[in-house]
This record gives sequence, structure tokens and C-alpha cells, in this order.
Amino acid sequence: MDEASAGLWRGGWYRFARRLHSPNQGPRPAGAQIDLIVLHSISLPPGRYGGDEVQQLFTNRLDWDADPYFAALRGLEVSAHFYVRRDGELWQFVSCDERAWHAGASAWRGRENCNDDSIGIELEGLEGDRFEPVQYETLASVCAAIAQGYPIRHIAGHEHIAPGRKADPGTGFDWLALRTQLGWDTAMFPDAVAGPLSPH
Ligand SMILES: [Zn+2]
Repeated sequence: MDEASAGLWRGGWYRFARRLHSPNQGPRPAGAQIDLIVLHSISLPPGRYGGDEVQQLFTNRLDWDADPYFAALRGLEVSAHFYVRRDGELWQFVSCDERAWHAGASAWRGRENCNDDSIGIELEGLEGDRFEPVQYETLASVCAAIAQGYPIRHIAGHEHIAPGRKADPGTGFDWLALRTQLGWDTAMFPDAVAGPLSPH
């Protein structure tokens, strides 16, 4: 980690995120090469924005009886490294040096169990729904910061690393907008979303 990124990161925690520790985490395998960012979408219940249910889920404090949808999640222990609210607010639950529980059964760039060596970012949203411009701003800035602190070479959606099982962030997510903001090479993105760069 160089001097510039050392100011952004401390022990895997990003300086500009609100911090809430999740117990749903563990050590990464020895020698894990953290080279993948995985994007997700989430809202609880689906399509309702602005509450604290996602933070509650990631800290095992969600009231399973508060909504009929939550019954299907009862006992679920999950987390992500980051969560981007509709208003662009950024939360962090797990140090990027540790293994968060966001990907499940998955494979990408020839490696399985993407939780081992990826950083997971949840966007407050719904599969098929659009995301807010300020969410792309926050997402691009945290992705750029992650790439300063870690040897990121790939970025993909949950739908790409677990096809058929997961569909987030979904068709409403504008990969081209993110790629344009980041200026990252198309080779870092899934083939399915790697079109030509839009003009700046
Ligand atoms: Zn997901």
C-alpha cells in the first residue's frame, strides 16, 4: 500500500465510510489476492428504501417478524464490505482485509468462492430498478479508493459470478455509466457489459 492509499485506508477500513461492524465475517485464506469487486443490490423489504433493515440484517438484529418477506430470511447471516444508500451515503461493515459473506456459491476469472478474494458492495436498490446518480458517484469514488489499496483487476455483478442463482444488481444498473466514471479498461468488466466507452 503506497503513501496516498495509506491515508484512505486503515486496517482495511475506508476513511470516508460510516462504520458499523458486522459479526458475519472471517479471515481470508492465506495469500488471497483481493482483485475482484462484486456489486449487488438490496432493499428490505424489496423496493422499500430509506429504512435501517439492511444494517440490521448485516448485524444480525433484523426482526424476522416485522415483515412477511423477512420470514424467508430468518437466521440468515450475511454481510458486505460496503453499502451505498439511495442518497449516496456510504457504510462499511467489514474490513476489506477480512472475508465478508456476500457472494455465496460463485465463480469468476477461473476461481470459485468469490468471498475469499473479493470486496462486496451493496447498492440500496431493486433488481430492474434504476439507481440514483449520487449512488454512482459514491460507488465510483469507493471503487477508485479500493483500487488504490488493493490490486483490483476485475469488477462484476452478483448476477455474473452466480448466473442463474442471482440477478443483482440487475438490468437497471448502468455499467457504462460506472465504467465511464471510473475510466477503467473494458477488460476489467464482464463481457456482457463491456461495450464502447461513452464520450465524456
Ligand atoms: Zn447479491
